[in-house]
Amino acid sequence: MEPVTTTALPPNTRHRHRKIVVIMGPTGAGKSRLSIDLATRFFKNSEIINSDKMQLYRRLDITTNKITLQEQHGVPHHLLGAFDPTQSVVNPHDFREIASDTISDIISRRGLPLIVGGSNSFIYSLVTKRFDPESDVFNGMDPDPVSSQLRYKCCFIWVDVCLPVLNQYLCKRVEEMLDSGMFEELSEFFGSGEHLTVKRSGLGQAIGIPELEGYFRTGNGTDSEAAVYNEAVRRIKDNTCQLAKRQVGKILRLKDGGWDLKRIDATEAFRAVLTADSGGGRVAEIWEKQVVETSVKIVSQFLEE
Ligand code: ATP
Repeated sequence: MEPVTTTALPPNTRHRHRKIVVIMGPTGAGKSRLSIDLATRFFKNSEIINSDKMQLYRRLDITTNKITLQEQHGVPHHLLGAFDPTQSVVNPHDFREIASDTISDIISRRGLPLIVGGSNSFIYSLVTKRFDPESDVFNGMDPDPVSSQLRYKCCFIWVDVCLPVLNQYLCKRVEEMLDSGMFEELSEFFGSGEHLTVKRSGLGQAIGIPELEGYFRTGNGTDSEAAVYNEAVRRIKDNTCQLAKRQVGKILRLKDGGWDLKRIDATEAFRAVLTADSGGGRVAEIWEKQVVETSVKIVSQFLEE
Protein backbone atom coordinates (compact mmCIF):
# COMPACT_ATOMS: atom_id res chain seq x y z
CA MET A 1 0.00 0.00 0.00
CA GLU A 2 1.27 3.49 -0.88
CA PRO A 3 2.05 5.89 1.98
CA VAL A 4 -0.66 8.47 2.49
CA THR A 5 0.78 11.94 2.76
CA THR A 6 -2.38 13.70 3.93
CA THR A 7 -1.63 15.99 6.85
CA ALA A 8 -4.10 16.23 9.70
CA LEU A 9 -5.24 19.75 8.91
CA PRO A 10 -4.84 22.27 6.16
CA PRO A 11 -3.59 25.45 7.86
CA ASN A 12 -6.71 27.49 7.11
CA THR A 13 -9.01 25.06 8.92
CA ARG A 14 -6.75 24.58 11.89
CA HIS A 15 -9.07 25.75 14.58
CA ARG A 16 -12.34 24.66 12.99
CA HIS A 17 -11.69 20.93 12.72
CA ARG A 18 -9.66 19.46 15.48
CA LYS A 19 -9.15 15.95 14.17
CA ILE A 20 -7.80 13.15 16.29
CA VAL A 21 -7.53 9.38 15.85
CA VAL A 22 -8.34 7.24 18.88
CA ILE A 23 -7.12 3.64 18.92
CA MET A 24 -9.12 1.69 21.43
CA GLY A 25 -9.39 -1.96 22.40
CA PRO A 26 -8.74 -4.38 25.23
CA THR A 27 -5.29 -4.98 26.67
CA GLY A 28 -3.14 -7.12 24.38
CA ALA A 29 -5.15 -6.50 21.19
CA GLY A 30 -2.26 -4.80 19.38
CA LYS A 31 -3.12 -1.09 19.76
CA SER A 32 0.51 -0.02 20.12
CA ARG A 33 1.66 -2.11 17.18
CA LEU A 34 -1.09 -0.67 14.98
CA SER A 35 -0.30 2.89 16.03
CA ILE A 36 3.37 2.42 15.09
CA ASP A 37 2.39 0.83 11.76
CA LEU A 38 0.17 3.82 10.98
CA ALA A 39 2.65 6.44 12.18
CA THR A 40 5.79 5.08 10.55
CA ARG A 41 4.38 4.14 7.15
CA PHE A 42 1.18 6.00 6.36
CA PHE A 43 0.49 9.07 8.49
CA LYS A 44 4.00 10.31 9.09
CA ASN A 45 2.97 13.47 10.92
CA SER A 46 1.46 11.36 13.73
CA GLU A 47 2.35 11.76 17.38
CA ILE A 48 1.11 9.30 19.97
CA ILE A 49 -0.56 10.23 23.26
CA ASN A 50 -0.75 7.39 25.74
CA SER A 51 -4.19 6.76 27.28
CA ASP A 52 -3.34 3.75 29.45
CA LYS A 53 -3.77 4.89 33.04
CA MET A 54 -0.93 2.71 34.40
CA GLN A 55 1.56 3.53 31.64
CA LEU A 56 1.26 7.24 32.53
CA TYR A 57 3.62 6.60 35.44
CA ARG A 58 7.37 6.15 35.52
CA ARG A 59 8.69 2.73 36.60
CA LEU A 60 7.46 -0.83 36.09
CA ASP A 61 7.85 -0.65 32.33
CA ILE A 62 7.61 -4.41 31.82
CA THR A 63 4.82 -4.97 34.34
CA THR A 64 2.65 -2.29 32.75
CA ASN A 65 3.69 -3.41 29.27
CA LYS A 66 4.95 -0.05 27.99
CA ILE A 67 6.13 0.07 24.42
CA THR A 68 9.95 0.12 24.43
CA LEU A 69 12.02 2.91 22.91
CA GLN A 70 13.14 0.54 20.17
CA GLU A 71 9.54 -0.42 19.35
CA GLN A 72 8.58 3.27 19.16
CA HIS A 73 10.65 3.57 15.95
CA GLY A 74 11.22 7.26 16.56
CA VAL A 75 7.52 8.15 16.67
CA PRO A 76 7.03 10.87 19.32
CA HIS A 77 5.20 9.54 22.39
CA HIS A 78 3.53 11.74 24.99
CA LEU A 79 2.33 10.98 28.54
CA LEU A 80 4.19 7.68 28.62
CA GLY A 81 6.00 7.30 31.95
CA ALA A 82 5.53 11.03 32.44
CA PHE A 83 4.41 11.12 36.10
CA ASP A 84 6.17 10.29 39.33
CA PRO A 85 4.17 7.42 40.88
CA THR A 86 5.22 8.42 44.39
CA GLN A 87 3.80 11.91 43.93
CA SER A 88 0.82 11.70 41.61
CA VAL A 89 -2.46 9.99 40.99
CA VAL A 90 -3.73 11.12 37.60
CA ASN A 91 -7.53 11.12 37.51
CA PRO A 92 -9.76 11.43 34.42
CA HIS A 93 -10.16 15.18 34.96
CA ASP A 94 -6.35 15.70 35.12
CA PHE A 95 -5.95 13.57 32.02
CA ARG A 96 -8.53 15.67 30.17
CA GLU A 97 -6.59 18.85 30.95
CA ILE A 98 -3.12 17.53 30.23
CA ALA A 99 -3.93 15.48 27.13
CA SER A 100 -5.97 18.28 25.56
CA ASP A 101 -2.98 20.63 25.91
CA THR A 102 -0.82 17.99 24.24
CA ILE A 103 -3.36 17.61 21.42
CA SER A 104 -3.32 21.40 20.86
CA ASP A 105 0.47 21.40 20.70
CA ILE A 106 0.54 18.56 18.18
CA ILE A 107 -2.14 20.19 16.03
CA SER A 108 -0.30 23.53 16.15
CA ARG A 109 2.68 21.73 14.52
CA ARG A 110 0.28 20.33 11.92
CA GLY A 111 0.64 16.86 13.41
CA LEU A 112 -1.97 14.15 13.73
CA PRO A 113 -2.67 13.15 17.35
CA LEU A 114 -3.14 9.40 17.84
CA ILE A 115 -4.63 8.60 21.24
CA VAL A 116 -3.60 5.05 22.12
CA GLY A 117 -4.46 3.08 25.23
CA GLY A 118 -7.06 0.99 26.99
CA SER A 119 -8.46 3.28 29.70
CA ASN A 120 -11.88 4.09 28.39
CA SER A 121 -12.81 6.42 31.24
CA PHE A 122 -9.76 8.53 30.34
CA ILE A 123 -10.68 8.57 26.65
CA TYR A 124 -14.25 9.48 27.56
CA SER A 125 -13.15 12.33 29.81
CA LEU A 126 -10.80 13.65 27.13
CA VAL A 127 -13.14 13.78 24.15
CA THR A 128 -16.59 14.64 25.54
CA LYS A 129 -17.63 18.25 25.06
CA ARG A 130 -18.63 18.72 28.68
CA PHE A 131 -17.04 16.47 31.27
CA ASP A 132 -18.58 16.07 34.70
CA PRO A 133 -16.06 14.44 37.10
CA GLU A 134 -18.98 13.37 39.30
CA SER A 135 -20.70 11.45 36.55
CA ASP A 136 -19.92 7.77 35.89
CA VAL A 137 -21.08 6.35 32.60
CA PHE A 138 -19.46 2.92 33.01
CA ASN A 139 -20.09 1.62 36.51
CA GLY A 140 -22.88 0.96 38.95
CA MET A 141 -26.43 -0.29 38.71
CA ASP A 142 -27.67 2.79 36.96
CA PRO A 143 -24.79 4.43 35.06
CA ASP A 144 -25.15 7.94 33.67
CA PRO A 145 -25.98 8.27 29.98
CA VAL A 146 -23.09 8.36 27.50
CA SER A 147 -22.68 11.78 25.91
CA SER A 148 -22.17 11.68 22.17
CA GLN A 149 -21.29 15.38 21.99
CA LEU A 150 -17.56 15.48 21.40
CA ARG A 151 -15.11 18.37 21.37
CA TYR A 152 -12.92 16.90 18.63
CA LYS A 153 -13.63 15.33 15.29
CA CYS A 154 -12.73 11.77 16.23
CA CYS A 155 -11.89 8.70 14.21
CA PHE A 156 -12.37 5.81 16.63
CA ILE A 157 -10.61 2.58 15.68
CA TRP A 158 -11.55 -0.35 17.92
CA VAL A 159 -9.07 -3.23 17.62
CA ASP A 160 -11.00 -6.29 18.73
CA VAL A 161 -10.09 -9.93 19.24
CA CYS A 162 -12.72 -12.51 20.19
CA LEU A 163 -12.34 -13.06 23.92
CA PRO A 164 -11.54 -16.81 24.07
CA VAL A 165 -8.66 -16.24 21.63
CA LEU A 166 -7.53 -13.07 23.41
CA ASN A 167 -7.62 -14.85 26.78
CA GLN A 168 -5.37 -17.60 25.47
CA TYR A 169 -2.98 -15.00 24.09
CA LEU A 170 -3.01 -12.98 27.33
CA CYS A 171 -2.05 -16.03 29.41
CA LYS A 172 0.85 -16.66 27.07
CA ARG A 173 1.81 -12.97 27.27
CA VAL A 174 1.92 -13.07 31.09
CA GLU A 175 4.37 -16.00 30.92
CA GLU A 176 6.49 -14.09 28.39
CA MET A 177 6.43 -10.91 30.48
CA LEU A 178 7.53 -12.84 33.59
CA ASP A 179 10.33 -14.48 31.60
CA SER A 180 11.48 -11.23 30.08
CA GLY A 181 12.01 -9.35 33.34
CA MET A 182 8.66 -8.66 35.04
CA PHE A 183 9.58 -10.93 37.94
CA GLU A 184 12.94 -9.22 38.50
CA GLU A 185 11.36 -5.79 38.08
CA LEU A 186 8.79 -6.53 40.78
CA SER A 187 11.36 -8.25 42.99
CA GLU A 188 13.42 -5.06 42.99
CA PHE A 189 10.29 -2.95 43.46
CA PHE A 190 9.31 -4.85 46.61
CA GLY A 191 12.90 -5.38 47.76
CA SER A 192 13.66 -1.65 47.78
CA GLY A 193 10.42 -0.83 49.61
CA GLU A 194 9.17 1.13 46.62
CA HIS A 195 5.76 -0.49 46.91
CA LEU A 196 5.34 1.48 50.14
CA THR A 197 6.01 4.81 48.43
CA VAL A 198 3.95 4.62 45.22
CA LYS A 199 0.40 5.83 45.49
CA ARG A 200 -1.95 2.93 46.18
CA SER A 201 -4.67 4.40 44.03
CA GLY A 202 -2.21 5.09 41.19
CA LEU A 203 0.55 2.80 39.99
CA GLY A 204 0.00 0.65 43.09
CA GLN A 205 -3.00 -0.87 41.30
CA ALA A 206 -1.03 -2.23 38.36
CA ILE A 207 -1.74 -5.90 37.76
CA GLY A 208 1.18 -7.86 39.21
CA ILE A 209 1.68 -5.76 42.35
CA PRO A 210 -1.21 -6.93 44.53
CA GLU A 211 -0.97 -10.48 43.19
CA LEU A 212 2.76 -10.92 43.94
CA GLU A 213 2.88 -8.88 47.14
CA GLY A 214 2.29 -11.92 49.38
CA TYR A 215 4.97 -13.90 47.57
CA PHE A 216 7.61 -11.22 47.98
CA ARG A 217 6.64 -10.66 51.63
CA THR A 218 6.71 -14.28 52.76
CA GLY A 219 7.27 -16.67 49.88
CA ASN A 220 11.01 -16.76 49.41
CA GLY A 221 12.75 -19.73 50.90
CA THR A 222 9.67 -21.34 52.39
CA ASP A 223 8.41 -24.81 51.49
CA SER A 224 5.29 -23.38 49.94
CA GLU A 225 7.21 -20.89 47.77
CA ALA A 226 6.35 -22.55 44.46
CA ALA A 227 2.68 -22.90 45.38
CA VAL A 228 2.41 -19.24 46.41
CA TYR A 229 4.17 -18.16 43.22
CA ASN A 230 1.98 -20.33 40.99
CA GLU A 231 -1.15 -19.00 42.65
CA ALA A 232 0.05 -15.40 42.11
CA VAL A 233 0.71 -16.10 38.41
CA ARG A 234 -2.73 -17.70 38.08
CA ARG A 235 -4.28 -14.55 39.58
CA ILE A 236 -2.26 -12.25 37.29
CA LYS A 237 -3.55 -14.17 34.26
CA ASP A 238 -7.09 -14.19 35.56
CA ASN A 239 -7.07 -10.47 36.40
CA THR A 240 -5.61 -9.61 32.98
CA CYS A 241 -8.41 -11.55 31.26
CA GLN A 242 -10.99 -9.86 33.52
CA LEU A 243 -9.51 -6.46 32.61
CA ALA A 244 -9.85 -7.24 28.89
CA LYS A 245 -13.47 -8.31 29.36
CA ARG A 246 -14.33 -5.14 31.32
CA GLN A 247 -12.64 -2.97 28.70
CA VAL A 248 -14.70 -4.56 25.91
CA GLY A 249 -17.84 -3.97 28.03
CA LYS A 250 -16.96 -0.27 28.27
CA ILE A 251 -16.29 0.00 24.56
CA LEU A 252 -19.68 -1.58 23.82
CA ARG A 253 -21.28 0.91 26.20
CA LEU A 254 -19.76 3.79 24.20
CA LYS A 255 -20.88 2.20 20.94
CA ASP A 256 -24.42 1.74 22.26
CA GLY A 257 -24.28 5.36 23.44
CA GLY A 258 -23.87 6.50 19.83
CA TRP A 259 -20.10 6.71 19.36
CA ASP A 260 -19.08 5.84 15.83
CA LEU A 261 -16.51 3.17 16.60
CA LYS A 262 -14.99 1.33 13.66
CA ARG A 263 -14.42 -2.24 14.81
CA ILE A 264 -11.48 -4.06 13.30
CA ASP A 265 -11.34 -7.77 13.94
CA ALA A 266 -7.78 -8.94 14.61
CA THR A 267 -8.82 -12.42 15.77
CA GLU A 268 -7.31 -14.29 12.85
CA ALA A 269 -3.89 -12.72 13.35
CA PHE A 270 -3.99 -13.74 17.02
CA ARG A 271 -5.08 -17.29 16.12
CA ALA A 272 -2.01 -17.44 13.89
CA VAL A 273 0.21 -16.23 16.76
CA LEU A 274 -1.14 -19.04 18.93
CA THR A 275 -0.68 -21.74 16.32
CA ALA A 276 2.66 -23.32 17.07
CA ASP A 277 3.58 -24.08 13.47
CA SER A 278 2.68 -20.68 11.99
CA GLY A 279 5.75 -18.62 11.24
CA GLY A 280 5.97 -14.90 12.02
CA GLY A 281 5.56 -14.21 8.30
CA ARG A 282 2.03 -15.56 8.23
CA VAL A 283 1.05 -13.50 11.28
CA ALA A 284 2.50 -10.36 9.69
CA GLU A 285 0.64 -11.04 6.46
CA ILE A 286 -2.75 -11.44 8.15
CA TRP A 287 -2.14 -8.43 10.39
CA GLU A 288 -1.23 -6.29 7.39
CA LYS A 289 -4.25 -7.30 5.31
CA GLN A 290 -6.93 -7.39 7.96
CA VAL A 291 -5.85 -4.78 10.47
CA VAL A 292 -3.41 -2.30 8.91
CA GLU A 293 -4.99 -1.94 5.48
CA THR A 294 -8.50 -1.61 6.92
CA SER A 295 -7.33 1.03 9.40
CA VAL A 296 -5.46 2.99 6.73
CA LYS A 297 -8.63 3.17 4.62
CA ILE A 298 -10.71 4.35 7.58
CA VAL A 299 -8.19 7.00 8.68
CA SER A 300 -7.53 8.23 5.11
CA GLN A 301 -11.23 8.72 4.53
CA PHE A 302 -11.58 10.52 7.87
CA LEU A 303 -8.75 12.92 7.03
CA GLU A 304 -10.24 13.69 3.64
CA GLU A 305 -13.72 14.53 5.06
P1 ATP B 1 -11.72 2.92 33.06
O1 ATP B 1 -10.62 3.82 33.48
O2 ATP B 1 -11.68 2.60 31.62
O3 ATP B 1 -13.06 3.30 33.58
P2 ATP B 1 -10.71 1.21 34.89
O4 ATP B 1 -10.66 2.16 36.00
O5 ATP B 1 -11.15 -0.18 35.19
O6 ATP B 1 -11.54 1.58 33.73
P3 ATP B 1 -8.63 0.37 33.17
O7 ATP B 1 -7.72 1.08 32.28
O8 ATP B 1 -9.62 -0.53 32.55
O9 ATP B 1 -9.31 1.33 34.13
O10 ATP B 1 -7.73 -0.40 34.21
C1 ATP B 1 -8.30 -1.02 35.34
C2 ATP B 1 -7.27 -1.65 36.19
O11 ATP B 1 -6.58 -2.62 35.42
C3 ATP B 1 -6.18 -0.73 36.67
O12 ATP B 1 -6.56 -0.05 37.80
C4 ATP B 1 -5.08 -1.73 36.90
O13 ATP B 1 -5.32 -2.48 38.05
C5 ATP B 1 -5.22 -2.62 35.74
N1 ATP B 1 -4.45 -2.16 34.59
C6 ATP B 1 -4.87 -1.40 33.55
N2 ATP B 1 -3.90 -1.15 32.68
C7 ATP B 1 -2.82 -1.78 33.17
C8 ATP B 1 -1.47 -1.90 32.75
N3 ATP B 1 -1.03 -1.31 31.64
N4 ATP B 1 -0.64 -2.61 33.51
C9 ATP B 1 -1.04 -3.19 34.62
N5 ATP B 1 -2.29 -3.11 35.10
C10 ATP B 1 -3.17 -2.42 34.39
